[in-house]
Amino acid sequence: MYRSHNCGELRSSHIATEVTLAGWVQKIRDKGFVVWIDLRDRYGITQLVLDGERTSPGLLEQARELGREFVLQVQGQVIERASKNPKLPTGEIEVLVSDLKVLNKAQLPPFTIEDVTDGGEDLRMKYRYLDIRRNRIKQNLIFRHQVTMEVRKYLSGQGFIEIETPYLIKSTPEGARDFVVPSRMNEGQFYALPQSPQTFKQLLMVGGMDKYFQIVKCFRDEDLRADRQPEFTQIDCEMAFVEQEDILNTFEGLTRHLLQEIKGISPGSFPRLTYDEAMRRYGNDKPDIRFGMEFAELNALSQHKDFQVFNSAELVVGIAVPGAAGYTRKELDALVDWVKRPQVGARGLVYVKCNPDGTYKSSVDKFYGQEDLAAWAKATGAKAGDLICILSGDTHPTRTQLSALRMEMATRLGLRDPGVFAPLWVVDFPLLELDEATGDYHAMHHPFTSPKPGQLELLETDPAAVRANAYDLVLNGNEIGGGSIRIHDKDTQATMFRHLGFTPDEAREQFGFLMDAFQYGAPPHGGIAFGLDRLVAILGGQETIRDFIAFPKNNSGRDVMIDAPARIDAGQLKELHLKLDL
Ligand code: ASP
Repeated sequence: MYRSHNCGELRSSHIATEVTLAGWVQKIRDKGFVVWIDLRDRYGITQLVLDGERTSPGLLEQARELGREFVLQVQGQVIERASKNPKLPTGEIEVLVSDLKVLNKAQLPPFTIEDVTDGGEDLRMKYRYLDIRRNRIKQNLIFRHQVTMEVRKYLSGQGFIEIETPYLIKSTPEGARDFVVPSRMNEGQFYALPQSPQTFKQLLMVGGMDKYFQIVKCFRDEDLRADRQPEFTQIDCEMAFVEQEDILNTFEGLTRHLLQEIKGISPGSFPRLTYDEAMRRYGNDKPDIRFGMEFAELNALSQHKDFQVFNSAELVVGIAVPGAAGYTRKELDALVDWVKRPQVGARGLVYVKCNPDGTYKSSVDKFYGQEDLAAWAKATGAKAGDLICILSGDTHPTRTQLSALRMEMATRLGLRDPGVFAPLWVVDFPLLELDEATGDYHAMHHPFTSPKPGQLELLETDPAAVRANAYDLVLNGNEIGGGSIRIHDKDTQATMFRHLGFTPDEAREQFGFLMDAFQYGAPPHGGIAFGLDRLVAILGGQETIRDFIAFPKNNSGRDVMIDAPARIDAGQLKELHLKLDL
């Protein structure tokens, strides 16, 4: 038996018990006549003590030779500590060591394995197994486990069945590039790794498994934006014989269950915003509604004077930033520079200070009088002491820019409290999205998403106006889940592919199996997928998903620990029928 107890469980009730512990040396304090060792394992830290009086000289010497992260097995008696440590769960006791065995030595670790470490991100990633010994990462992984357990518990309780789908498949169009795997046995042919199990879960519905879920890896070869991983985990779900309302209710239930079990909060029913409304009120299809600063469109109140910038704009839109009227000239200039940064891309910023005395001071005083400014204040809901920020230009980019400013101001004002959870549904997404560069339409969600009833015909005349049975679940400014009611008949699916620019042959070649299945009694169905990594990070009150993944990739998609991706040798290339011309 390696251990009778773990390093986190001994209390004063164990005093006088003989115990065996195993773990890693976190720290050694040698005071000459006494040596203390902090022994750590997954469960906590227990203080070991050896001294000149009660410990044999040989053992004391042995203890002095130990180093950080040595793996030990010790035997001893639990005794009361002279000076107790109320911060440590085991702080009332220590173990007086009577025997000690080094199970394995350790080199000096490249960074200190403590809550506050001297290791930078790169170093910690290279030695991730050491990083995992630290409380922060360890707790995050345990937390992730708790969340996934609750997901499984809830969904199983609702009659969902977890079914695995294959990883070596053919392209699934979720809008990213595929990772491909060459086939040794089929020369010149490749599998694609799933961007999601989308087509398989739909086939499971045809197969009659009317409530499916899977906690599953998905792979997308995208240019990595901050905090994205090329492989990530989804809670993937599908249901048959359902309407959008059934799906929203079921997964609102899941989200509520998680908030309740994990955070102890019970939110009321989730607000629902249409996509159009979300864009109009927040400039964003995943609005953070933990705070106000809603958009006010000011065209009618601002296009009647000689200010050409506003007069020529498709949209003039503002927000009231609470309590920011005190910004100095320098701070305001910095704010103007902030919105002009290429990442935001605004051409300028008009601001109005709502002075405490009820007067207004703006950057456009030359054009607008106090009455105009008062009207803007009323429209944006600005109070005395607030700062109105206004952007103008083409509708979509201007909304996006003001949304970025709104989030920035909320961050500065501390309004994005990670302890507050504000979920909502965004519904009625456009079915298609115009690719400005090519002039082509893409499916905004994916090509299997159904248009709203009666809107199929609109595809011919006004494709951008068609709305989809598609919805996102948004939490604190993040899309944590998204899904749709699917097309389940062959003709509609064929029409959809045609509008997405597939020839009938291309559609057949890529998705013939699905169209075939639709001919054999496909039930009406729909579903959703949650991004587990992000969901866990948000529930854990943190921003980076990497901290909740045991072995994440870095921003260039590399695993710096195992050093992947890597070249393969000539023999392997040959076997795979690949020729590289590097
Ligand atoms: N497959 C979709 C996605 O990965 C989710 C869904 O439509 O259920 O976003």
